[in-house]
Amino acid sequence: MHIKCSHPSKHQSKLVVKRCFYALDLEKAISDITDTCRVCSSLQKLPQPVAEQSTQPPPQSIGISFAADVLKRCKQLIFLLRETASSYTVCCLIDDERSTTLRNALARLCPEMRPITGPPVVVSVDPEPGFVKILLCFNSELL
Ligand SMILES: [Zn+2]
Repeated sequence: MHIKCSHPSKHQSKLVVKRCFYALDLEKAISDITDTCRVCSSLQKLPQPVAEQSTQPPPQSIGISFAADVLKRCKQLIFLLRETASSYTVCCLIDDERSTTLRNALARLCPEMRPITGPPVVVSVDPEPGFVKILLCFNSELL
């Protein structure tokens, strides 16, 4: 009857069935049929995602936007610098996550990724204490 009536809602199914039949636990049976129907399941609204997703437009050119992060693998600290448009990535091993170490690693890897006389760049970092210290004492000598 659910398929013959072109997949009615639970309320509509209940009205149609009650016109001709009487059964115990009719609402539960209708609810089970509607919930297990693939067509009805595919037409249900999806729940809203918990976290809002956001994105930024891609950069206008290559070599002006980077992302830096520190990874821990096999008890080693790896400083990673990735160009956001091309995903070209360079990395180096670092001894600790102090701001001076991170600053030196960034200063060592940036010239490999962009020309020294090139335009200023934007480096996105996580709010780790070492990176925050770099941002607080950031000056033009770094890049
Ligand atoms: Zn259905």
